[in-house]
Amino acid sequence: MAAQIIDGKAFSARIRDKVATHVARLKDEHGITPGLAVVLVGEDPASQVYVRNKGKQTVEAGMNSIEHKLAADTSEETLLALVDKLNNDEQVHGILVQLPLPKHLDEDLVINSIDPAKDVDGFHISNVGLLGTGQKSMVPCTPLGCLMMLRDHHGNLSGLDAVVIGRSNIVGKPMAQLLLGDSCTVTIAHSRTKDLPDVVRRADIVVAAVGRPEMVPGDWIKPGATVIDVGINRIEAPEKGEGKSRLVGDCHFESCAEVAGAITPVPGGVGPMTIACLLANTVTACCRANGLAEPDGLTA
Ligand code: NDP
Repeated sequence: MAAQIIDGKAFSARIRDKVATHVARLKDEHGITPGLAVVLVGEDPASQVYVRNKGKQTVEAGMNSIEHKLAADTSEETLLALVDKLNNDEQVHGILVQLPLPKHLDEDLVINSIDPAKDVDGFHISNVGLLGTGQKSMVPCTPLGCLMMLRDHHGNLSGLDAVVIGRSNIVGKPMAQLLLGDSCTVTIAHSRTKDLPDVVRRADIVVAAVGRPEMVPGDWIKPGATVIDVGINRIEAPEKGEGKSRLVGDCHFESCAEVAGAITPVPGGVGPMTIACLLANTVTACCRANGLAEPDGLTA
């Protein structure tokens, strides 16, 4: 194996330490405790795990965690009224509505009802527009985590060729905007891209956000390139015993690691960075709301 492994677990621990230090300072010097409100509608098991982890890490960082768990049949009116209440609550600096929402609720309407200044997921249309025009915004957590790892590894990204595979609103598109903001030459690939292997082979940086297990093999990777694997896919693992499974990324780790200069593993790469960046965004939102200096290195 040639590639350096980019350890997202260790990196995210450093981010959380920075967040905790800043939170302690906000409390000591200004008497302010950042608060993150998470709204979960329904009982999707994966969402319940995410929300539990978010709450735990928020408290560990010294912040207030406010959880609202609503029944799956909650009406849009009730949900919008809750978001409105949180928008007007001075103790709440960040609001996250856990997606996906049950089918009868309009996700766009709900997300766009969040005060953009408290939209720590960065999905509000205002934040999307601000990011797209290179203005100060709330940046979606997963792409922000990828950018932090890339900056840490490369120092300066200017002029590098970057290929983002995937064009979703939560990962692919904001990732491409962030890389463009750092002066990469960016290509966004998707399911209609012609000759994807050839496109990927040009890249100094490959960000895979597809949701297809081990789709990118090592022979698509330019020697020395940096591979950021966002994908989280559960596949069967009969070698671990009957009915067992394991997590893999969108890149075939072993073969990509033979060729790449650096690569994020799955698990332990991008995943842990996402919640760390959510905490970072909450502190940033709190500082902005109070006209205080933002912590260094925790946003784009
Ligand atoms: P989406 O399903 O919203 O988007 C997938 C994208 O991949 C689409 O743009 C699609 O193209 C593209 N795609 C699908 N098949 C191919 C193909 N054969 N060749 C090229 N492109 C293809 O997924 P998300 O962006 O939400 O998530 C992507 C992955 O990242 C998932 O595995 C998800 O679990 C993971 N994830 C991980 C997070 C983390 O914290 N680590 C956070 C969020 C997501 P098209 O638009 O043409 O359909």
